[in-house]
Order: sequence, then structure tokens, then C-alpha cells
Amino acid sequence: MFNLEKQDLENKKVIIRVDLNVPLDDNFNVTDTTRIEACKETIDLILDKGGTCILISHFGRPKEREDKFSLKHIVKTVSEVLDHPVVFHNDCIGNEVQEVISNLNQRDIILLENLRFYKEETLGDSLFAEELSKLGDIYVNDAFGTCHREHSSTALIAQFFKNKKFAGKLLLKELNAINQIANNGKKPVLAILGGAKVSSKLNILHNLIKKVDKIIIGGGMAYTFIKAKGGKIGNSLVEDELIFNAKEILSLADKLEKQIILPVDTKASKDFENNDQIKTFNSNEIEDDWMGLDIGKKTIEKFSQEIFLSNTIFWNGPMGVFEKELFSEGTSSICNSLKQAKQKGVNVIVGGGDSIAALKKLGNKDWVSYISTGGGALLESLEGKTLPGVKALMQ
Ligand code: AMP
Repeated sequence: MFNLEKQDLENKKVIIRVDLNVPLDDNFNVTDTTRIEACKETIDLILDKGGTCILISHFGRPKEREDKFSLKHIVKTVSEVLDHPVVFHNDCIGNEVQEVISNLNQRDIILLENLRFYKEETLGDSLFAEELSKLGDIYVNDAFGTCHREHSSTALIAQFFKNKKFAGKLLLKELNAINQIANNGKKPVLAILGGAKVSSKLNILHNLIKKVDKIIIGGGMAYTFIKAKGGKIGNSLVEDELIFNAKEILSLADKLEKQIILPVDTKASKDFENNDQIKTFNSNEIEDDWMGLDIGKKTIEKFSQEIFLSNTIFWNGPMGVFEKELFSEGTSSICNSLKQAKQKGVNVIVGGGDSIAALKKLGNKDWVSYISTGGGALLESLEGKTLPGVKALMQ
């Protein structure tokens, strides 16, 4: 991939595909600026080098031109976060916007209207991509969170830029983090997977077991594995149709001499909503009617020991129903152990919506080495796929 840092950007019009799909409240106020902050580094670099920034992004899932999905609502906040004036134009292709851009100066920033006001964007239309390519001299993709989609502004536009297409700084950081988990992280590399469903992480498990040294499985997804090993899991969450796949992964791990580490004890309740009775069981001896909702103390101890033996750790998914105070101890204790490990120099990478939600709920998240901004894009990368948006930059 070509290096943006080495590129002469003086007086160049740079199209930057960013992900400004930020959450808004009912009064159109931005409630979380993380995605805007995430692309600031690339924008600053381009401004420092004397370029003009043309920001293109999607926003929500509009069916047509709908005012509530206009990017005009976020211009003020984008300008505040970037600490730089930002102008807005109410279209993203055509002669008028090209004319406006041609009259911009060095170090100007323009934000164009929602790409998804054209259905061609999500259809991956080449003509639409070609129209977008006429907006500038150089193309930068910094929207990791949409790189798994074969959309015009991510996967098709790059073909019109030959050696003038680049990964932005955020995209490079994301690719680097994935590389550390799956290829060149300092060993031992440990993946900690949790959350509700095995089905959403089956392909990741298949890929990661070949790449990392050990995998810890916690959360609701652990019970399918415990049942696959012959354990009694009571009324805990299970995907019976995946028992075969779970057995396959366990035997692949054995063959590769890798370890899959499962909970040894479980904090359980009889009722998901009403938790007046709580009991701890061995994870493979849960009585009928009881439902495992968090890892127990012995498991916290065991998982923490594994954390302290590792040098690179990827964490995705909570260890229990962390949203409920009664079942948040497992997730918060694992967070604390990860924090201690990080303080001793371990590389801790966190990704996936619920792990980030858990980090936020449990307090400060600034200690993590890297937090991925991508949901689906991260998961598909960890499944071993090269994302269409990334591939387009390499061709
Ligand atoms: P996911 O989206 O697959 O990462 O799942 C996240 C959700 O898994 C969270 O809402 C947790 O409450 C839920 N979860 C974690 N552990 C369990 C469990 N043992 N039983 C049921 N749900 C769980």
C-alpha cells in the first residue's frame, strides 16, 4: 500500500472516505464523537501538508433523500472536534459540487451530503464511483468500519486513482492491530471471546485457533462448548445446532496443540429477570432450571492467570450479563486483570461493540493499547478475510 505520509499533498484536493455515522439525539445533537475524533489524525496530516479535505461519508440507512439523515446536522460538531472550519455542500456528486470544490483553498475542509442518498452507493455502482472520483486528485480511505462492504465509496472508487490511493492513519492502525492479533503479535497470543452467541463467532474461532496460542471462551457462548464436552449446563444459553461445530473446533485445537480454556465455575440464577436466588455451580454440573449468567470466582482466577502469562491479548465480548450488577463481576474482574497486564507491558487490543460498552460501563477505557472502531469489519478481518475496501487500495 502507498504511504500517505510521503506524498506531496500541496494544493491537492484529497477525497477522504470517513465514517461519520455518529449517533444523534432527538434534537440532532451528536451524542458520541468517537468516530469524528478517530479521523482527525488523517485530516490533520492532509491539512499540514497543504491539501484540501473533501470528506465523504454515509449516515444511517436512508431509503431516499430524508432530512433526518442529512450530514448537515453534524457539521458544527465535526468542526468543533476537528478544531477547524468545515463547510457543507448538499450533494456529493455532479457539476455543482465539483465547481464548489474547485474554488476551495488549501487547508479548507468540505463535508459532502450523505453518500447513501444515492442508492448506487450501497449497490456498488461503478458509474457512481467514477462520479465520486471526479471530486479530487487523491483518494484516502479512513473508514475501517465500512471496509467490509462492497460499496462505491469504499471498494470501487479506488480503481480510478492508480497510485494515488491511500489508507488513512486510522485504517492503518486497525490493520496493524489485526496483524498483531493474527500474525505477528509478541507470543504467547491470547484471544478472549465472550458474548451471547457462538454462531456470530464461529468463523473467527476457526481462523483464530490456527493463529493464536490460546483461546478463552466465556459468556453465554461457553455453554455450547461445555455441553459439547459432555457437561450438564441446566437452562443456560445453548446453540444445540452448533454442538457439532463446537466439537470440531475443540478437536482442531487438540490437533494443533492449542488450548481452548472454558469456565470451571458459573454464577447462575433460575430466572433471567428475577434474580432473588443465585447459586454457583461447577460449569459442567449446572442443575436443571438454573441458568449460567456469569463466570464464577475460580474461573476469574484461572482466566486472570492466563492473562498474566500472555504478551498479546485480544478481547471481544463480555464474560456474563454485565449489564446487570449481579452478573458483572466476571467481566469487570477480567477488565481489571487486562488493565494490570497492560501496565506490565502487555499489548491489549479490544474490539466489538459490547466489549467497548462494558469497558465504558466499568469506567476509564484509556488504558487499553488499542480499541478497534470496526464491528463487522473487525470480525470479518479476524475470520481471515481481506476486506473489499482494503483490497481495492492494494490492487
Ligand atoms: P454478543 O453481542 O454476542 O457479543 O453478546 C453480548 C451479550 O451477551 C450481552 O448483552 C450479554 O448480556 C450477553 N451475555 C453474556 N453472557 C451471557 C450468558 N451467560 N447468558 C446470556 N447472555 C449472556
